[in-house]
Amino acid sequence: MLDKLDDLIAGTATLDLPDGHFINGAFGKSGGDLIDSYDAGRGAVFAQFTNGTTSDVDRAVTNARNAFQTVWRKTAPVERGRILSKAATLILENLERLAVIETLDCGKPLSEARGDVRGAARCFEYYAGVCDKLQGQTFPLGHDYLGYSISEPIGVTAHIIPWNFPISTAARGIAPALAAGCCVVAKPAETTPFSALLLGDILHQAGLPAGVCNVITGTGVQTGAALVAHPDIDQVTFTGSVATGANVMKSAADNVTRVVLELGGKSPVVMMNDCDQDAALDGVMGAIFENAGQICSAGSRLIIERDIHDAFVERLVKRAQSLTIGHGLHDPNMGPLNSEQHLQKVAGFIDRAKSRGAEVLTGGNITTDPKTGQGWFYEPTIIANRPSDDELVQEEIFGPVLTVQIADDVDHALALANDCQFGLVAGIYTSNATTAHRMARDIDAGQIYINEYFAGGIEVPFGGNKKSGFGREKGLEALQSYCKTKSVVAKI
Ligand code: NAD
Repeated sequence: MLDKLDDLIAGTATLDLPDGHFINGAFGKSGGDLIDSYDAGRGAVFAQFTNGTTSDVDRAVTNARNAFQTVWRKTAPVERGRILSKAATLILENLERLAVIETLDCGKPLSEARGDVRGAARCFEYYAGVCDKLQGQTFPLGHDYLGYSISEPIGVTAHIIPWNFPISTAARGIAPALAAGCCVVAKPAETTPFSALLLGDILHQAGLPAGVCNVITGTGVQTGAALVAHPDIDQVTFTGSVATGANVMKSAADNVTRVVLELGGKSPVVMMNDCDQDAALDGVMGAIFENAGQICSAGSRLIIERDIHDAFVERLVKRAQSLTIGHGLHDPNMGPLNSEQHLQKVAGFIDRAKSRGAEVLTGGNITTDPKTGQGWFYEPTIIANRPSDDELVQEEIFGPVLTVQIADDVDHALALANDCQFGLVAGIYTSNATTAHRMARDIDAGQIYINEYFAGGIEVPFGGNKKSGFGREKGLEALQSYCKTKSVVAKI
């Protein structure tokens, strides 16, 4: 695979990728039309996949239900754990292939894609260990009663996956669902279908019985909508935008289907005067320019105390200007945006901001791969101090755009951090432990990072407050989405 990189970048090599769904343990054709998948680094088609129809969705759900009733919920938990553990191993054995495909599909730098694949393997490793530890309770009802609870799998779960972290988002939902004993139908985003398809196949190779994990591709409006509205789906884990999440919730309500919504973010990185500015510089750069800012938990608002603002922002601008951009397979510091449509959306935010008089400290333009003149790139961009009611502070841009806000003191920084419709994560840089924990207490967000942005891993529950959604993925808490409690009371 790695010897083909230059040909893949030039578009002169092709990959052997499936163009059908993965249902009941096999790739297969359907009646759905084929859709083009684009290499964002070139802005050119590199493969095709199927736009799943309502009957494809029905077939996937029926197979999942059948596998649930006949096999998976009866499979010994220890055996489930062994299969998930084997899946983790196989994902790592396929690391390079999966990473190259992820880079072509998403655009992200190859080393970031490798990290995502390792993260996906880690999800299966983590949840493999929990399969045989899901226990119920007993209830103290007195001498003449026996009361206990059983943790049962919910049934068939649907997973709607976005395009920014396709394999790791798929894994973080599918692994706990399978660990709990559920069967799965996953639908990746229409711009990044391939890693989830290959994951379905890898799970099958690891020993997962046919039908336990199915992957169907297609658009959100056709395939995704049919999946979440399917009456035989017991739970939907949706990761995506606020608008789509609200529609998913409404659609699920018709069947009283449970939902977990992992939505957008506009997360603050708060820097106090006393912080380690070198560590903060690395943190702020990674927070907004990793994956070209296409991260729900990106640190897209820098809230910085006035005394350190000027010197720090000068260093930050220099660092942003030093970033290399290019095709993801060349492994630059920053790759392209995922689609032309998304590139235009990001550019629109900055064009409007310029017309409102916003000061662009660096970046602010559409660009291309300097080696080829191709692809959907946006310059690393930093915007000078904006008020809280500015669109750049309130709206998720989902691109390499950092907006600065100046704070006068801790309370002001806290107020700015909370003055936003989203509440996904927040970063805090300070050397004062009391300030750090006061802020951690008072910022309304699902996860707080202190002195290292993106600290933590699969062990730590993740999810949002406010418009960032509800429910938690990752950690042991994620299992609650895939389990239901049955209480039993006997008079003896
Ligand atoms: P999106 O909402 O457009 O699409 C997400 C997924 O939903 C895709 O698979 C899409 O096909 C599907 N979809 C679209 N319409 C649907 C419908 N009517 N019914 C069912 N499914 C439908 O979001 P996006 O632009 O692909 O992803 C970016 C968004 O995702 C950003 O807002 C980002 O913050 C968010 N996100 C959140 C997290 C998190 O964990 N909180 C992680 C990654 C991305």
